[in-house]
Amino acid sequence: MIQHAYKPASLEEAVELRNKEKAIYLSGGTQVNWAGSNLHPEKVVLLEGLLPDTVKKVNDRLEIGAGITLQALMDTRDVPEPLRRAAEFIFSRSVRNMATLGGNIAANRTDSYVIPALIALNAWVKTVDGGEIPVEEYLTRGKDALIEWVILPEVAGRCVVDRAALSAAAYPTLTLAVRVADGETVIAVGCLADHVIRLKAVEENITSGELTSEEAVFNAVCEAVDPPDSLKESGPYRKYITATMVARAVMECMGVTS
Ligand SMILES: Cc1cc2nc3c(=O)[nH]c(=O)nc-3n(C[C@H](O)[C@H](O)[C@H](O)COP(=O)(O)OP(=O)(O)OC[C@H]3O[C@@H](n4cnc5c(N)ncnc54)[C@H](O)[C@@H]3O)c2cc1C
Repeated sequence: MIQHAYKPASLEEAVELRNKEKAIYLSGGTQVNWAGSNLHPEKVVLLEGLLPDTVKKVNDRLEIGAGITLQALMDTRDVPEPLRRAAEFIFSRSVRNMATLGGNIAANRTDSYVIPALIALNAWVKTVDGGEIPVEEYLTRGKDALIEWVILPEVAGRCVVDRAALSAAAYPTLTLAVRVADGETVIAVGCLADHVIRLKAVEENITSGELTSEEAVFNAVCEAVDPPDSLKESGPYRKYITATMVARAVMECMGVTS
């Protein structure tokens, strides 16, 4: 239960307080304050009013303030469509109105809709205390630096996001984002492991031109993933749905319609 809430005057002070008081950041609070969360902090550092929440074009990249809510992200025309669509997958408008982009990245949930899209778009984070690093590295290296901006470089190719869920309000069975360009393929998938993963072997075989049909991609994904049974779905079902949806998304990126 939260016993102390610190209200810093600057982002630098927020970092200082977090380190000194062994506190955690609270941005939108939808994860920190969620009853099912495993965080249970005693001390929080409030970020409200400190983080940027604007979207601006700087040379050839888009900079998005980490304090932007997922609803505002969805409503901002300058934000690439796959990222806006990923934010929209969170069913509840009330949650989207509170949840921030920075909080979604740092929460590092396997069922994030936004993280696969950011990875597929080669996004970076600009942090207050850890420099600029790719989102994927921030997540895989367990970084906890304070995210100030999310940076989207210009990328080639088409990016497709999708998800499978038993109902609109249910937690997803699968979240995914795929981007295919000349010489580069990214397939980022959530809900199969503790965190969002990339299917690198499949990516390489698509980029090299070895996998060109939906069936070939389907079979390659079946080889690459082996999810266990979950509470609601069997492992074979999860494998099938993953292979089907990734193969379809790859074909859509390639402009092949079935
Ligand atoms: C009903 C409900 C449904 C949800 N459904 C989903 C879902 O389907 N998919 C999903 O991904 N999430 C879901 N969430 C979780 C949550 O909404 C998101 O993960 C949200 O984007 C977190 O953002 P926040 O600003 O609320 O983060 P907070 O709760 O404030 O913080 C989350 C974590 O990030 C850290 N943090 C916050 N901001 C920063 C920052 N700028 N830099 C570094 N660290 C930071 C905090 O210390 C904390 O560890 C759901 C939550 C609820 C209540």
